[in-house]
Amino acid sequence: HAKGRGRNGYQFYAPSMTGDGVDRLRVEAMLRRSIEKNEIFLNFQPQVEIDTGRLIGVEALVRWQSPELGLVPPIRFISMAEDTGFINQLGKWVLHESCRQMVRWEQAGLVVPKIAVNLSVKQFERGSIVSMVSAILAETGLAAERLQLEVTESVIMNTGDALVFINDLHAIGAGLAIDDFGTGYSSLAYLKQLPVQTLKIDRSFIKDISTDVNDEAITIAIIQLGKSLNLSVIAEGVETAEQAEFLLRNGCNLAQGYFFGKPVLPGELLARWIGGGQKSA
Ligand code: C2E
Ligand code: MG
Ligand code: MG
Ligand code: MG
Repeated sequence: HAKGRGRNGYQFYAPSMTGDGVDRLRVEAMLRRSIEKNEIFLNFQPQVEIDTGRLIGVEALVRWQSPELGLVPPIRFISMAEDTGFINQLGKWVLHESCRQMVRWEQAGLVVPKIAVNLSVKQFERGSIVSMVSAILAETGLAAERLQLEVTESVIMNTGDALVFINDLHAIGAGLAIDDFGTGYSSLAYLKQLPVQTLKIDRSFIKDISTDVNDEAITIAIIQLGKSLNLSVIAEGVETAEQAEFLLRNGCNLAQGYFFGKPVLPGELLARWIGGGQKSA
C-alpha cells in the first residue's frame, strides 16, 4: 500500500487502514498498546502575545509514533481512540505528561505560564473527571491555575452533565477554553453560564482573513463578543504577519500558529524560550 512521507516528515498510511474490517482491527490493537510501548508523545506549541512576542502558554498536542505506521497525526487516531474507549487512558496520559512537563521546564529554568490540554467529549461521558484532574495536579505539584482545559462547543452542547463537570473543574481552579470557536453549535446563553476564560477563534476563519470579508467579519465579531463577556480571545492557525497584524488592529493580542512557532518537542521549546526569549526569525 501507498505510504508517503508528508511535508512535515509525517508518514501517512493508506486510508484503508482506518476503514472497516481486519485492517481497522489491527490498527485498533496497535493503538491500544501504544502507551505501554512508549509510542505516544507530546508536542507543544507556543501561545504568544502578538505585540510583545511574550510566551503566555503552550498547547499540548498528542502524537503517535508507530513502528508499523510511522508518525500518525491525531486526526487519524483520536476518533478511533474515542470509538474504542482508549481515549480515557490516552487523555489521562496526556494530562499527566503535560503537567509533568511544566514542572520539568521549570526545573530547567523556563516558567511556562500555562498549559492548554485538549479534552475529548468521551472523557465527560463516564462521570466527573475532576478527581482525575485533581489527583494529577496533586501528584505533579502543578498549580491548578496553570492548567487550561480545551473543549469544543459540541462537548458543552452534547454532553448531558458537561455543565456540572465544567463547574467542578472551575471549582478546583483549572481554566477552560472553548476550542475551534465559531465552528460548532454554540449557544450564547451557555457562554454566559459557563466559567470559561478563553475563546479560541478557529483556524478556518483566520486562514482567509485577508481575502474573505465574511471570515473577517466573523473574526471581528468573536473578538467583540469576547470583550463584551470579559473573556480572553486567542486566534489559532496564525501563519502570516498580515494575519497577526489584522488581529492586533482589531483588538486580539493573543495568537497561536506556525508564524509564531510550530508544535515542537519539550527540549526545542526550552531552547527557544529560555530567558524569556522573543520570537526569532
Ligand atoms: P486543535 O486542538 O484545534 O489544535 C490545533 C491544531 O492546529 C494542531 O493540529 C496544530 O498543529 C495545528 N496548527 C497550529 N498552528 C497551525 C498553523 O499555523 N497552521 C495550520 N495549518 N495548522 C496549525 P494537530 O496537532 O494535528 O491536532 C489536531 C487536533 O487533534 C487538535 O485540534 C485536537 O482537536 C486534536 N488533539 C490533539 N491532541 C489531542 C489530545 O491530546 N487530546 C484530544 N482529545 N485531542 C487532541
Ligand atoms: Mg486545542
Ligand atoms: Mg483548535
Ligand atoms: Mg482545530
